[in-house]
Amino acid sequence: MRTLVIGGSLGGLAAAHEMRFAGADVTVYERSVDRTQPRGAGIVMQPEVADLLGRLGRSVSSVSVALSERQHLHRRGEPERYSAPQWMTAWDTLYHALREPIACMRMDSTLTGLSRDAGGVTATFGDGPAAVGDFVVGADGIGSATRRLLTGRDELRYPGYVAFRGLEPEADVPEHLVGLLAERFTMFAVPGLQMLCYLVPGAAGERAAGQRRVNWVWYVNTAQARLDQLLTGRGGQRFDQFLPPGELTDRSQSALLELAECELPRPFVELLEASRVFLQPVFDLPPTRMVTDHVALIGDAAGTVRPHTASGTSKAFGDAAGLAAALADWRPGRALPLAALHSWQRARLAALRAIADAGVRLASRSGLGATGPQYLRPDAATGPLPVPDDPTRAVRDAC
Ligand SMILES: Cc1cc2nc3c(=O)[nH]c(=O)nc-3n(C[C@H](O)[C@H](O)[C@H](O)COP(=O)(O)OP(=O)(O)OC[C@H]3O[C@@H](n4cnc5c(N)ncnc54)[C@H](O)[C@@H]3O)c2cc1C
Repeated sequence: MRTLVIGGSLGGLAAAHEMRFAGADVTVYERSVDRTQPRGAGIVMQPEVADLLGRLGRSVSSVSVALSERQHLHRRGEPERYSAPQWMTAWDTLYHALREPIACMRMDSTLTGLSRDAGGVTATFGDGPAAVGDFVVGADGIGSATRRLLTGRDELRYPGYVAFRGLEPEADVPEHLVGLLAERFTMFAVPGLQMLCYLVPGAAGERAAGQRRVNWVWYVNTAQARLDQLLTGRGGQRFDQFLPPGELTDRSQSALLELAECELPRPFVELLEASRVFLQPVFDLPPTRMVTDHVALIGDAAGTVRPHTASGTSKAFGDAAGLAAALADWRPGRALPLAALHSWQRARLAALRAIADAGVRLASRSGLGATGPQYLRPDAATGPLPVPDDPTRAVRDAC
């Protein structure tokens, strides 16, 4: 079973392993030229990920940092703490664990076309050589070309908030902050703003104290009209869904620090000051049909979930495991196992909708989104200031 996996991030690598276990001959096609610039950051370890790691002979503890407590910070007063053991990993740590056993991966290969005839499905990659497979798995994320080619639908929606993020070697973060944050999942929230932080393995997978990284995410309600400015890098390049570290302009950086000074507890302000901030707007891509003829969609390409459930990666892994199980007894030349594929689709769409709804509920409970209090509004260059949503919050309005 020649299987072409489109997209070589975590979902694509999980699909490659699952299809390999089901007896397929797999090649992964990835748009990026190389992976020296990892895009992801911290990831909460979930059972679906642990399960695949186990089948690859890797333990959870070999790719994760253990946490023992949760703590809520306040602008004034002591943190509240309670016991909450948990494992945390990182995108690049998982990437390396999954990438190594995959023999066939083609970088610099952007899917541009799909067609099917009696010989199989042909995938074209711009000017590069085409590939023919018996089955194609689209794991190409929220801008999925596989999805567009399959369904003609490309309906990314911006719900009204972004994630500013940081991932710093703990050695570069002031010692008293590492003392406060290590081995704890730390949170701070007011309506329309939420920040969380935990330590993850170092850039080469190190788990020892002193060699880990401090990972943080700060969700901020941000007007759509402000996105253009925030996603434009220092050299004037407009990024789509991710502004890399070092690209935030001085103007955006000062607006962010000003907002932090007004709203965040002191340790989080200091953490922001010690970080090279990067940015990911939160986008919703609604669920779609996951299987059509000899092509299936998994992970974000099939529909996104909000990050608050910490399950985007585990959802992609669950999609991949179920798809491989549905195809396990199929061999090219025979009719596709449609009943098994449709039952996979039903189960995974139900799971996707349940997680997506839970994420939307969590966001709305935290005032995150276009209807919550607004923090980063359109500035003078991009539009008029809206009427303050909460005039009693003089401090917030000043930001
Ligand atoms: C702020 C934020 C925080 C998050 N936190 C968490 C978390 O804590 N835990 C968690 O589990 N999930 C989290 N997620 C979600 C997580 O990033 C994804 O849901 C998960 O990694 C699944 O990704 P994927 O492999 O389906 O897609 P992606 O990671 O987007 O990968 C798609 C891949 O396809 C490639 N590609 C794109 N187009 C083409 C093409 N035409 N041809 C070939 N290749 C192509 C891309 O280069 C990329 O490598 C978070 C998301 C956000 C936005």
